[in-house]
Amino acid sequence: MNLTIGWLYPDLMSTYGDRGNIIVFEKRCQWRKIDIEVKKLDVGFSMYELERCDLLFMGGAQDRQQTIIAKDLKDKTHVFKDIINRNMPGLYICGAYQFLGNYYKEADGAIIPGLEILDLYTENPGPNHPRLIGNILIELDPVILGTQNAAQRTPESDSRQVRMTTLVGFENHGGRTYLGLGVKPLGKVKVGFGNNGKDGTEGAVYKNSFGTYLHGPILPKNPHFADMLIKIALERKYKKPIDLSPLEDALELNAHETVVKKLRIHI
Ligand code: GLN
Repeated sequence: MNLTIGWLYPDLMSTYGDRGNIIVFEKRCQWRKIDIEVKKLDVGFSMYELERCDLLFMGGAQDRQQTIIAKDLKDKTHVFKDIINRNMPGLYICGAYQFLGNYYKEADGAIIPGLEILDLYTENPGPNHPRLIGNILIELDPVILGTQNAAQRTPESDSRQVRMTTLVGFENHGGRTYLGLGVKPLGKVKVGFGNNGKDGTEGAVYKNSFGTYLHGPILPKNPHFADMLIKIALERKYKKPIDLSPLEDALELNAHETVVKKLRIHI
C-alpha cells in the first residue's frame, strides 16, 4: 500500500511545530510498511499535483503569509471545493482552517478571502482584544467518534471509530471563528479557547476535511487522530475497509495523558 501526502505551502504555512504532523504521518506509515511520499505543494503548484494526493495537510501562519497564500488560492478555489467535496481527506491547522471558511478579517479590517467551502468566518477584533493563547483540551464530537445516534451516522463517520475521546494541543490565534448553522465542530472545549473563546466549540469537520486551532503539533500527542486520518485516506484510496496494525504508542499516549491531567487541574 502507498499514500501520497500533499503538504500545502510548507514554507509559508507552518508555525508552532506544524511540520511535526508530517513527520508523524511519515513515521506511522513507515512503521506499518505503508510506502509514503510527501509532495510539497508550494506557491504556483498545479491542480494536477493536488489530484494525485491521497491526504492533504496545511499548517498555520501569520496574517502576512495568509495574504500571499490567498492570492495563490484565488484561481484554485473551485478545484479545491470540488476535491474536498469528493471527500479528499485533509487536516487544516489554524490559518489554514480559516481558509476553509468565507473570509478572515484582520485586526485592521482588511479581508483575506477564504475558499468558502465551510460556512464559517473568522474575525480578529483588534489590538484591544487578547490573542487566544495557551494549551487546549477538547472532547471530540460524537460524529467523529462514530458513537452518535443512528440518524446522524454516515459512511465516513462509521469508519472513524477512534480510541480516545480527547485531543490536546497548543493554540495561538487572534482570529475568532464563528460556525454557520449546520457546520459541525470538531469538538467541545474543555480547557482553552477554541473557535472564539465564547461558544465552547473547537474546529470544524466537513466530509473528510478537519479544521482545528490545535498546533503543538497536534498529531504526536494525539496518535489516535493521526491514525484516523491515515485510515480515512487509505480506505478512500483502496475502496475497502482497512484496519491499521496497532503500534507501540506508550510514549505518545503518556504525553497525551500528561497534558490532560495537567490541564484538568485548571477546570
Ligand atoms: N493569523 C491567524 C490568527 O492569528 C492564524 C494564526 C495561526 O495560524 N497560528 O488568527
